[in-house]
Amino acid sequence: MNNNKPIYVTQPHLPSLEEYIPYLEKIWENKILTNNGPFHQELEKRLSDYLGVEHIALFTNGTIALITALQALRITGEVITTPYSFVATTHSLLWNAIKPVFVDIDPNSFNLEPNKIEAAITPQTTAIMSVHCYGHPCDVEAIQKIADIYNLRVIYDAAHAFGVEDQGGSLLRHGDLSILSFHATKVFNTFEGGAIICPDAKTKQRIDHLKNFGFVDEVTVVAPGINGKMSEINAAFGLLQLEHIDQALARRKEIDAMYRQLLKEVKGISCVQDAGEQIANYAYFPILVEEDYPISRDELYHKLRDNNIYTRRYFYPLISTFPMYRGLASASPTNLPVASNLSSKVLCLPIYPDLTDIQVDFIAQVILGEKK
Ligand SMILES: *Cc1c(COP(=O)(O)O)cnc(C)c1O
Repeated sequence: MNNNKPIYVTQPHLPSLEEYIPYLEKIWENKILTNNGPFHQELEKRLSDYLGVEHIALFTNGTIALITALQALRITGEVITTPYSFVATTHSLLWNAIKPVFVDIDPNSFNLEPNKIEAAITPQTTAIMSVHCYGHPCDVEAIQKIADIYNLRVIYDAAHAFGVEDQGGSLLRHGDLSILSFHATKVFNTFEGGAIICPDAKTKQRIDHLKNFGFVDEVTVVAPGINGKMSEINAAFGLLQLEHIDQALARRKEIDAMYRQLLKEVKGISCVQDAGEQIANYAYFPILVEEDYPISRDELYHKLRDNNIYTRRYFYPLISTFPMYRGLASASPTNLPVASNLSSKVLCLPIYPDLTDIQVDFIAQVILGEKK
């Protein structure tokens, strides 16, 4: 097969334009564009039902949701977090003038290693911000146990974890708050968007105030809030996406199984296993390129590019290596051996609902060395 059309690591799932038009007509009719409009309210309700959570506050994107979550809980001082994530996780701390303290990850789950958290706690520590990397659950029980002992808050960056469930239900019920991203590249997208999952109505109310400049009513401002509101255009698109999400997740699952089958005998390539979730979302397909693979990870990355396949090295470089973080004592590579090692080996292969079997097969052939 010749692969003329580029294959990217992901491609947003778009329903047909005709399906979206009636939503737009509704907006043009009622002239409500934002500020908790009817589509916004409906999406909050429908998402709560779909995700199996009670209280959800929609946002303009996941990063503003992270920043607002820290504000809502009044987090200050130091926060323990992972270097193995998208930069927004840690940037949200800097935007709150909080000092990130990096802790290494578990080699199997790629998530914060609970056994290494306690040693990083100081009198300034107020919270743990953990990421369910690739949608694979953190060791939520171990993290909560430490948080209870040291009286810390727990915030989950669940940007990858839309729809993931563990044995007890939605993964999003854990911690004090969980944050979702609905960015175009995520499993469920509203073009741009995000949300905070709140434990109770009171917390949701505070967050709703914070995302709307702190307004409680026309004349009352209770906090230095931000503009984090989701618009009606995005909310309407989310409602439409929700109609197609089960189908999209089912196709992701098929692709995941295909890759595992095609790559299982390849020496030096290992497919990252899930972390025992009850319902997975197949958001990413990370592989590790080990020493006994004929070429290096970066050589494979470039070879795939030469074949018009654009994989991504999520997460390389580590957040802790960026200029605004690398001066921190906890950013030292000797403090983060597992994250550093995995970051040098990982490659995320294309996975999205419209990826065809033929394309998956072609990608596997390149990795198998059957293509130049
Ligand atoms: C995508 C992502 C974010 C940021 O979400 P946006 O909606 O793009 O602002 C934060 N954390 C992680 C882990 C992400 O993957």
